[in-house]
Amino acid sequence: RAKESGRDTISFFDSDMQRTVSRRATLEVELRNAVRQEQFLVLYQPQVDVAGRVTGAEALVRWQHPVHGMVPPSEFIPLAEETGLILPLGRWVMETVMRQQARWRHDPVFGRLDLAINVSPRQFRQEDFVAHVQALLHDTGADPARIKLELTESLLLHSVDRAIEIMRALRVQGLGFALDDFGTGYSSLNYLKRLPLSQIKIDQSFVRGVLRDPSDAAIARSIIALADSLGLGVIAEGVETEAHRRFLQDHGCPAFQGYLFGRPMALDALEQQVRAGLEAR
Ligand code: C2E
Ligand code: MG
Ligand code: MG
Ligand code: MG
Repeated sequence: RAKESGRDTISFFDSDMQRTVSRRATLEVELRNAVRQEQFLVLYQPQVDVAGRVTGAEALVRWQHPVHGMVPPSEFIPLAEETGLILPLGRWVMETVMRQQARWRHDPVFGRLDLAINVSPRQFRQEDFVAHVQALLHDTGADPARIKLELTESLLLHSVDRAIEIMRALRVQGLGFALDDFGTGYSSLNYLKRLPLSQIKIDQSFVRGVLRDPSDAAIARSIIALADSLGLGVIAEGVETEAHRRFLQDHGCPAFQGYLFGRPMALDALEQQVRAGLEAR
């Protein structure tokens, strides 16, 4: 009977599904191995102010696969979340970025850059998240005031009170928090008021539409106004053209991130861009 149902189960899959399942299994084995061998790389995407000056960067992870080359996060972060591999991977990203901040810490130029790190919900909900971040800060010698953690609204699906508690504990140390992809999730204005955030990131889907879709324009303007009235910083993501930047700036947006100012890049390229900005002054 068991054998029979086993066979039934297998014949239930069509070949497409089977391929998907085995591809996933392969990917999981490879990802586990990649975490062990540290086959990852952190790229940095500049964040700029209205004068175009680089004020910081967002750290974005890449998997340097020995056969497939550079794999984007959209292809492995969800799997890393599901399998729990996001915990060691997230730890590695955080440590890498904090080490970099520590190297820059006493530099008059680079020591001022704010570095943003994406934190996945599973990482954030980890029992010892606060202690873990504190230990990394201590071990690396990074300045907490230059580190910002990017969270998504999905963390609000679980306990908001718990989220506030975690954020408060780390804010006391000087860390900042940005709410990523704002407007695409389950945001409630009531939670927004309660969360100890330093910045809201306007999602690129709205930014992309500001010039052709009146509702996207209205949403972008409302987010800027909302951030303003709550005393929070705001940054537009996915700014690709000067016309988009102009629109956002005209409506009070003080900070931008997007291909217009630079793609996610290697550390030395970011350093070069920061230096070039200084020389242009
Ligand atoms: P995100 O945090 O919202 O990051 C912004 C994404 O938009 C990045 O994609 C960036 O390359 C892309 N982007 C920036 N400017 C533009 C633009 O002007 N046009 C377009 N079309 N795209 C732009 P990326 O690097 O592929 O990362 C995708 C997502 O993967 C991130 O979205 C974030 O949710 C996740 N991710 C990346 N690195 C990490 C990490 O270290 N940990 C965790 N947990 N998640 C990460
Ligand atoms: Mg982000
Ligand atoms: Mg985002
Ligand atoms: Mg995103």
